Amino acid sequence: MSVSPQLSLTLDDRFSRELSEMAIPWRAEEAPDARLLILNDRLAAELGLDPPALRGPEGLRLLTGNLVPNGATPVAQAYAGHQFGGFSPRLGDGRALLLGEITDPSTRVRDLHLKGSGRTPFARGGDGLAAVGPMLREYLISEAMHALGLPTTRSLAVVATGRSVRRETQLPGAVLARVASSHLRVGSFQYAQATGDVGLLRRLADHAIARHCPEAADAVEPYLALFQSVLAAQASLVAQWMLIGFVHGVMNTDNMTISGETIDYGPCAFMEAFDPAAVYSSIDEGGRYAYANQPVVAEWNLARLAEALLPLLHDDQEQAVRIATDELGMFRQRYGDTWSAGMKAKLGLSGHQSDELILPLVDDLLALLTTGGVDYTAFFRSLSGAAGGETDDVRTLFATDEGLDAWVQRWKSLGPDAAAMDRTNPAYIPRNHLVEEALTAATAGDLEPFDQLLTAVTLPFEERPGLERYTAGAPGDFGAYRTFCGT
Ligand code: AMP
Ligand code: MG
Repeated sequence: MSVSPQLSLTLDDRFSRELSEMAIPWRAEEAPDARLLILNDRLAAELGLDPPALRGPEGLRLLTGNLVPNGATPVAQAYAGHQFGGFSPRLGDGRALLLGEITDPSTRVRDLHLKGSGRTPFARGGDGLAAVGPMLREYLISEAMHALGLPTTRSLAVVATGRSVRRETQLPGAVLARVASSHLRVGSFQYAQATGDVGLLRRLADHAIARHCPEAADAVEPYLALFQSVLAAQASLVAQWMLIGFVHGVMNTDNMTISGETIDYGPCAFMEAFDPAAVYSSIDEGGRYAYANQPVVAEWNLARLAEALLPLLHDDQEQAVRIATDELGMFRQRYGDTWSAGMKAKLGLSGHQSDELILPLVDDLLALLTTGGVDYTAFFRSLSGAAGGETDDVRTLFATDEGLDAWVQRWKSLGPDAAAMDRTNPAYIPRNHLVEEALTAATAGDLEPFDQLLTAVTLPFEERPGLERYTAGAPGDFGAYRTFCGT
């Protein structure tokens, strides 16, 4: 435990104490000219931190890892991972550090973590750095996801370091300060299991139980209960991604949390035209992480977690495999339950209507949206108007009728609740062309477009005058959107 008097920040080092084999004590690179680009005042206050102090020189040194509170032990965390299906036994934080754990005033424990803080022993060929654009991107999209009600890591601040970073061109460098329930990943368990040290694996599982599902400690089979909890959290998370139209882009097992929070906003994007095959990442040539594949990939990743946990599930390997397989079989139902309930809510039908009526209606709708290449977010937002008879907004999204009117009649006969729909279907999401516009300006030193977009997407359900351009789809000349991993 440690205290920085200026910031009255206490950071625990529980991960590094309990799992020292997976934690390399390390220090951030010096930021030659730190400048705050954005601070999340509300999150800072929630954590019991003082925003004015964080804005001051000491605060900036803390947010770049250059001031380490007495007694804190920043570490690079070890993890393994399947990347696009291929296993790497040693990935780890190549350019990130866990500063430590904060207990907020409501006693919730969260990691304070830096990204872009310099090379670590896990950096391999990487420079350990991050550019302003991608760090602001993670800030913007993670905060939008939080405002949309999805479980996610949060962003506390982005600080420009004053160092330039070499990508295709020279770019200004930055450090993101991130807050998470924890940074335990499926890949953390794969790492522990691959060491062959079952004691380490058990300690990691005990640590995860204490942080994420303490009730599992009292279960007859605590490690099975841990797996059940991760499976439920991930099934629900990925269903929520699907409902909101989010494509993560790089669902490697090192980018899948044990907490069920979305993590590592790299080549992610929000879908505009509804398309099950939507892929944005330039490196995802086979479409492994396409929109419609996400639930299947999540299930695959959970199978990798189950494999890593086998030694804890039963002494007899065959029995352990049987237990894990039975449990994995629950994924589809859990995913389906969250997805169906969410889709009903999107259609304003959360009440008494039966699944037999609603599910074919949903299938027909998704077929209509696919054929018409209709903007997914705009469709659901404008559909609430159609409940009251104002069908113009929704109709303009379709080039031709294509069966829309007949579908709307069927849907209306079920008595949708328009007001409830507007609390579920956002008006504002981080649209790709707006994100790019904001990041290009920010990289050139103008933060105004970023701040405006952030204002729109962090109150996503409240339509406000003057923000019309944030609801519109990309202009025709924006072209097919491509995101890059070279973050
Ligand atoms: P990601 O795809 O961002 O989740 O990162 C995958 C792995 O690459 C992790 O081990 C990262 O720490 C590492 N990595 C990504 N970018 C860099 C970089 N610029 N320098 C060092 N390591 C990096
Ligand atoms: Mg990652």
